[in-house]
Amino acid sequence: MASIGENLRHVKETAAAAARRAGRDPARVQLVVVTKTVAPDRIAEALAAGATACGENRVQELLAKQPELPSGVQWHLIGHLQTNKVKLIAGRVQLIHSLDSLHLAREIGRRAVEKGWVAPVLVQVNVAGDPAKYGLPPGEVAGFLQECLLIEGLQVRGLMTIPPLASRAEESRPVFRALRLLAEELRQKMPSLPLELLSMGMSSDYAVAVEEGATLIRVGTAIFGPREG
Ligand SMILES: *Cc1c(COP(=O)(O)O)cnc(C)c1O
Repeated sequence: MASIGENLRHVKETAAAAARRAGRDPARVQLVVVTKTVAPDRIAEALAAGATACGENRVQELLAKQPELPSGVQWHLIGHLQTNKVKLIAGRVQLIHSLDSLHLAREIGRRAVEKGWVAPVLVQVNVAGDPAKYGLPPGEVAGFLQECLLIEGLQVRGLMTIPPLASRAEESRPVFRALRLLAEELRQKMPSLPLELLSMGMSSDYAVAVEEGATLIRVGTAIFGPREG
């Protein structure tokens, strides 16, 4: 069985090759190593092999692991965020990938201002209208961003999506492409918002996501192996 370090290098090389195929600079794709359910000693192996950012989908798990790992590590919250947990992570994460309601946006802004922080966030978009997924319908994102522009303490940096479960990576390509096109359209409509980040692609489909313009890929299983439970 390959080691965590070998897996990490393989993912990085595969992502870089996908970027080059698409005529993109591989340096513009950041790997977020998804560490949910992974113990700190195994996360440390990935960090020793060159990982720079950890992605967790639960606030409590993220906060429990943070003090056990080096302070230079970036922490990204990638899962649905409940409003009552916002105060716990304000100022403690480098990026929230999963902004999915105005109510949450206002709470993030409020807690950020209290901490003297500006919260970098991505808006989660439910591109395929999958009832099992969080995220805004694509048609509501422009209006949502206009509202977010009025919220102090909040800085929208881009968009994120999770495609419906698929048996082949190619099935996710139209979803990834649609997210990139939506971001391009929104950048033209709202030049004051940079929207430079696109978080899309997981273990099964990150190469396709990079070909379609991902700047952040969220990869767990391909690095640590299958999760228990
Ligand atoms: C678990 C998770 C991932 C990583 O999934 P893998 O298939 O293990 O790579 C990516 N994004 C989100 C939002 C997740 O919850």
